[in-house]
Amino acid sequence: IDIKKATKIFKTKNNTIQAVDDVNLHIREGEIFGVIGYSGAGKSTLIRMLNGLEQPSSGEVVIGDDIISAMGRADLLKKRQKVSMIFQHFNLLWSRTVAENISFPLEIAGIPKKERARRVAELVDLVGLTGREDNYPSQLSGGQKQRVGIARALSNRPEVLLCDEATSALDPETTDEVLDLLVKIRDEMDLTIVLITHEMHVIRKICDRAAVMENGRVVETGPVIKLFQNP
Ligand code: ADP
Ligand code: ADP
Repeated sequence: IDIKKATKIFKTKNNTIQAVDDVNLHIREGEIFGVIGYSGAGKSTLIRMLNGLEQPSSGEVVIGDDIISAMGRADLLKKRQKVSMIFQHFNLLWSRTVAENISFPLEIAGIPKKERARRVAELVDLVGLTGREDNYPSQLSGGQKQRVGIARALSNRPEVLLCDEATSALDPETTDEVLDLLVKIRDEMDLTIVLITHEMHVIRKICDRAAVMENGRVVETGPVIKLFQNP
């Protein structure tokens, strides 16, 4: 993943906000890369550029051979199967079961019913929700809801998983379980993970490298052991 001189300016009625300011980042295949910073630093805007939910005002975002920042809507929708995302508040479909939530992106992608059922069973097992297939999200704990979010995000076998404050709504113990799961799927599925967080613990626990954002800018970047070794 290459982010080159990316800038994002939001113009509202009364003011202009530079949410992302001349950011350059290279994220390696297979790593877990963290972006940390206070609320309003620009993390969410930056990560949303990676799947085209936001387009940069200037600069370029490249994943593999694809210039995300130059893609049209139809191509982006397709690309989102390979660059999927999980969210702080899970964004599940509340009137559908666990199995139906996980199956939903596969339906949209036109995968036949039999193959969908096979993949759903595999994913339910991977995220540790066997026996919960027919539950509705309201019947699950926060950690279990995020496991559904993760399984759904993995259903189309993505190359990149984006995590937007994915553990921020969870208690510390559940956070660690979900983080362990992210490491497991990175190892087993050849995945690159980019996560944003305001919690140092998340960065220390699972990230290989990280960037620190302040006021739209990346002010530091490097291996986590080097970045945060000083007290
Ligand atoms: P973070 O994820 O680090 O909390 P954000 O990327 O959400 O930061 O926001 C960065 C800045 O951009 C904030 O000042 C925020 O208010 C502003 N911003 C984000 N999205 C929009 C938008 N759609 N319109 C206007 N301003 C926005
Ligand atoms: P917030 O700014 O509150 O963090 P989100 O980033 O969670 O909001 O999502 C904003 C909206 O965009 C939601 O309605 C969500 O369902 C939709 N959305 C986010 N990511 C994707 C995606 N990869 N594909 C399709 N829709 C998405």
